[in-house]
Amino acid sequence: MSRDRQRLAISRPKQGAAGKTGAWRVFKPVRDEGKCNRCGICALYCPDSVIDEDLEIDLEFCKGCGICANECPKKAITMVRD
Ligand code: SF4
Ligand code: SF4
Repeated sequence: MSRDRQRLAISRPKQGAAGKTGAWRVFKPVRDEGKCNRCGICALYCPDSVIDEDLEIDLEFCKGCGICANECPKKAITMVRD
């Protein structure tokens, strides 16, 4: 039997998979640089893949769902009124 490492298939959404956000967003995420440890978990969980490698959040596509804030282990993201 081959000892090659098997990899599982993985699929990620494209940036802005759900399209541009209109004016309907109520809350937007704000990251606190002082609390953030740059683990990248927020980017991993964002369903619209709008948090890039530098942890910049693209508000043109962000839906304000709050999943990033909810998953952040350091509570470094706050959802504020848009
Ligand atoms: S999950 Fe929280 S601590 Fe981790 S990179 Fe994102 S904002 Fe920073
Ligand atoms: S609020 Fe939702 S869409 Fe916006 S960056 Fe966080 S997880 Fe992504």
